[in-house]
Amino acid sequence: MNIVRLYNTQSRQIEDIVPLNPDKILRIYCCGPTVYNYAHIGNFRTFLLQDVLHRLLLTMGYGVKFVRNITDIDDKTIRGAQQENVSLRSFTERWTDIFHRDCEALNILPPDVEPKAASHVAEQIAMIETLIQKKHAYAAADGSVYFRLSSFPDYGKLSRIDIKQLATQNENSAGRTNLADEYDRDSVHDFALWKAYKAEDGDVFWESPWGKGRPGWHIECSAMSVKYLGETIDIHGGGIDLCFPHHENEIAQTECATGKLFVKHWFHSEHLQVEGQKMSKSLGNLFTLSDLKNKGYDASTVRYALISGHYRQILNFTFAGLDAARSALSKLKAKVVNLCEKNNLSFDENFLPKNITYHSPNSAIEALKNDLNVPKCLGEIFSALNDAQNMELQELYALCFILGIEKFLFHRDLKAIEVPSDIAELAAQRWQAKGNKNFDESDRLRQLLGEKGWNVVDQKDGYELEKMDF
Ligand code: AMP
Ligand code: ZN
Repeated sequence: MNIVRLYNTQSRQIEDIVPLNPDKILRIYCCGPTVYNYAHIGNFRTFLLQDVLHRLLLTMGYGVKFVRNITDIDDKTIRGAQQENVSLRSFTERWTDIFHRDCEALNILPPDVEPKAASHVAEQIAMIETLIQKKHAYAAADGSVYFRLSSFPDYGKLSRIDIKQLATQNENSAGRTNLADEYDRDSVHDFALWKAYKAEDGDVFWESPWGKGRPGWHIECSAMSVKYLGETIDIHGGGIDLCFPHHENEIAQTECATGKLFVKHWFHSEHLQVEGQKMSKSLGNLFTLSDLKNKGYDASTVRYALISGHYRQILNFTFAGLDAARSALSKLKAKVVNLCEKNNLSFDENFLPKNITYHSPNSAIEALKNDLNVPKCLGEIFSALNDAQNMELQELYALCFILGIEKFLFHRDLKAIEVPSDIAELAAQRWQAKGNKNFDESDRLRQLLGEKGWNVVDQKDGYELEKMDF
């Protein structure tokens, strides 16, 4: 096994990833999507970076069990189902399918287990009962159950928040309300484990020892993580906004219920902004994968752009950056096609490039192993290729596999696809414009081809056309 090092939000240090369990299988839990709408590119930045970590660990020889949940019970899913007058289940299943389709297009490896909150209400109730029994939780008069924060002195250890100094918090950073004033709590900081039924919940409720209601948001991750990965896990991931309160609450619930350490290593990724601004519907800068497809960018370009910044830094997503990603991928593709032809080699789609010998020192792989430095890795790949150094094809394949761009670069046969004549014509005009050094025109034609669903891959003495993959 090749040791990977990663920053731990809790210790604020870069640490070796060493499996806790004697079976050496790393237990990883990542908070998944809330399935009420399309996931946006911010969500996908987080899921993609988790995917790069997942792929890196597999490639470095770790055994991994990767769990990512589906949040299908919350105010947004319930409201969405009611607005469409369909059951919560059929509403969330539809959005889950769409999420899966986007993940597949982006070449995100599926998790080993993908548990849904609504299918694990019994496990959540059982954990809440344990917490009540151990006096870490109490039922209020209306049938809601709260976690008693004062019973867990370690609260805040992840985000180093001082609970005594916290102002009344009505809403967390993800916009989820904490029900601050609506219910009868001992302390304003106590958070809901179980929410008593309200008329606006309509037909969404479960029976519990405290009456009709539904689980609070935080408890699902604790219950499902313990069920599928055991009481203590190696790595827990999520976007930085989840650090407080969601992950602090997960720690409180799980550690009080089990009496054990919940998570050894916390992996948080920074947010994505669009053209320097926070993404929001009202600013019109909230993009989904299909929005970008309609603007002529395919999934490989989006993947490349979203992983290309360091995960601990805010990524400023711009259209200029997307164009740069497209052209970088196109250059890489040309090299790959060339190298594959020269070596007369191809790679099976199911090939996991474990146990590859990297040239030592191989700075591209070292960059990934040292706190998942994707931008440095990409820089190293390009300089190795530009210097015509002996970057071996297998090694290049392994790096592309970890970055999750192998599907686009190695597994698409450029020549096998029939090109319609209007597309071929545009591509020929573009090649001519490029030859005449009329780069504005050749860029315009490349963009036009993108909007029609075609990528151009330039090679030394010609070009190939590639149908975009969604
Ligand atoms: P949600 O569907 O809201 O539960 O979020 C799914 C994941 O996306 C969580 O890990 C969030 O932390 C993450 N996330 C939400 N907004 C952004 C953003 N702008 N940039 C990066 N990650 C985000
Ligand atoms: Zn969670």
